Amino acid sequence: MTSNDRTPIPLQLGRTPRPAARPFEPVGEPPREGRLVDSFGRVADDLRVSVTDRCNFRCTYCMPADGLEWLPKSQILTFEEIERVVRLFVSLGVRSIKITGGEPTVRADLPELVAKLRGIDPALELSMTTNGYLLDRLAKPLAEAGLDRVTVSCDSLQRHRFAEMTRRDAFDQVMTGMRAAHDAGLSPIKINTVVIGGINEDEPVAFAAFSRETGHQVRFIEYMPLDAEQSWERAKVVPSGGIVQAIDSVYPLVPDGDGVEPASTYRFADGAPGGIGVISSVTEPFCDTCNRLRLTAEGQFRVCLFALDETDLRAPLRAGEPDDELECLIRGAVWRKWSGHRINHLDFVRPAKSMSMIGG
Ligand code: SAM
Repeated sequence: MTSNDRTPIPLQLGRTPRPAARPFEPVGEPPREGRLVDSFGRVADDLRVSVTDRCNFRCTYCMPADGLEWLPKSQILTFEEIERVVRLFVSLGVRSIKITGGEPTVRADLPELVAKLRGIDPALELSMTTNGYLLDRLAKPLAEAGLDRVTVSCDSLQRHRFAEMTRRDAFDQVMTGMRAAHDAGLSPIKINTVVIGGINEDEPVAFAAFSRETGHQVRFIEYMPLDAEQSWERAKVVPSGGIVQAIDSVYPLVPDGDGVEPASTYRFADGAPGGIGVISSVTEPFCDTCNRLRLTAEGQFRVCLFALDETDLRAPLRAGEPDDELECLIRGAVWRKWSGHRINHLDFVRPAKSMSMIGG
C-alpha cells in the first residue's frame, strides 16, 4: 500500500490496523565530499549525542515508573568512541553538538567527555539537555571543561505538579541547578517545557513571567508519540499556536526567528529579558528545514527522531574500520533521510524506541 492509496482501512475491534511503513528510496547517490546533504538538499549540521539511556527522573510522558531495561555498559559507546565519531561528523560539517540522554549528567565523568569534544574544535557549539537535578555540582566543572550552555527540562512551576509529572519531588533542586548553571556562565539558559492537555496547559503564561524574571528562554514542546508507555493521544497535544496567543495577550510578543532553531521564537515587545519559543513537532512539523542528526548511546545513527531504521556505527567502530568506511555509512544514511515524519498521516508508525532511548 502506498501513502496515497485511498482504499479504506478495514475496521477491526480493539486495534487500529496500520499499513507497514515503507523505507524511503532516494534518487541518485550521496556526494562523496562536502557537507552532509540529503536527497532533498537539506544540509545536516546539528548532532545530538546521547551518552546514556539511564535517567534519574521518570517523567510520565517519557518513561515508566519502574524505568526501562537499561543497556549493559559494554553496549554503550566509550568516551573515546564518541570523540572519534564526533570528530568525523565535525569534519563533515557538523557545527553544533548537543549532549543528551537518558539523563546525561548520570554518566560518570561527563566533564571528561566535554573536554574531549571541546578539544575537537574551539568554535563548535557545545550544549547539553538535562533535567537539571545534578547541575548544582556539575555546572561549574562542565563549564570549565568547555560546555557553552544548557537546556533544562522543567514542565511545571508548581512543586506538586512538577513532582507528579517527573515522579520526583525535585523542583527545588532543579531551580538550584538552573541558578548554578547561570552562575557558571552556561547561558543563555533554555528551558524545555512539554505541554500536555489536562496536565499543565494552564502554565505557559506563568512560564513567560518566569522567563521575564530570570532571562531564561522557555521553549514549549508539543507532546509527541514517543512515550515508552504508549499513552500518547492526539487529544493531549496542546497546539503551539494557542500557547503563543495566550502569552501574547498578557505579554505582547514580537517574532524573533534566528533561522537556526526549529523553534519559532519570540521576544517580549516591552523589551523584558528572556523570550519564548514553540516547537510544533505535531501541529506544524518543521521537517522541511530539519538539520538534525542523532547518535544513540549504543552508537546507532538516526536521521530523524521518528526514523524507523538506524545505521549501526558501533560495529564498524569496534571492528577497527577506518573513517572512510564510517563516512560512507553516514553519508548514505543522511542521503536516505525521508522528506518528513508521518505523525499526521494514517500510515504513521511509532519508532520502537522511546524518547529516552533515542536521545531527545
Ligand atoms: N534527561 C534530559 C532532559 O530532561 O532534558 C535529556 C533527555 S530528555 C528525553 C530530552 C527532552 O525530551 C526533554 O525536554 C523531555 O521533556 C523531552 N521529551 C521526552 N518525552 C517526550 C515526549 N513524549 N514528547 C515531547 N517531548 C518529550
